[in-house]
Amino acid sequence: MGLLEELQERSGNICELCGATEGLRIYEVPPVSTGGLDGSVLACDTCITQIEDPDSVDANHWRCLNDSMWSEQDAVKVVAWRMLNRLKSEGWPQDLLDMMYLEDEVLEWAKATGEGKEEGEQVIHRDVNGLILENGDSVVLVKDLKVKGSSMVAKQGTAVRRISLDRDNAEYIEGKVDGQHIVIITKYVKKL
Ligand SMILES: [Zn+2]
Repeated sequence: MGLLEELQERSGNICELCGATEGLRIYEVPPVSTGGLDGSVLACDTCITQIEDPDSVDANHWRCLNDSMWSEQDAVKVVAWRMLNRLKSEGWPQDLLDMMYLEDEVLEWAKATGEGKEEGEQVIHRDVNGLILENGDSVVLVKDLKVKGSSMVAKQGTAVRRISLDRDNAEYIEGKVDGQHIVIITKYVKKL
């Protein structure tokens, strides 16, 4: 059984965030190194688009978290926590956050993308041109890079989609090249 089938079975084939039944796909909860069933959520296009593009967020859509924040799945809780943090200035998300309880480990994971941190406290990642990088961005390599611990060379011009940021280090991002998960230094990438 593939990951998609496993997620469909776990969720009863609905978006694990909002309950939608259409446009469902796998959302790997960043940092993608977690991966797999426990690190993924079955979510609809609407949810995924808004998670990945903060500018497109419709706060009312996320009223669904009222239910899904109680999910038994850590991955779902992590996404709920991040979205509630992003929206907390609306008021009601803060109320939900106050009710939410995450195990230390899960909270650590939830914080891994910098969501929930005050401004100034956040580690800011910038590409070779100084543009701010965010989780889910796509970048292109501006030089050939040796991949640590393997004989692979990631070629200049290679696109890396859906990067995730190292929350502790502004110089590192992670992403997949040729199906392999690698760490990349921000000064060698250009935002697409
Ligand atoms: Zn959804």
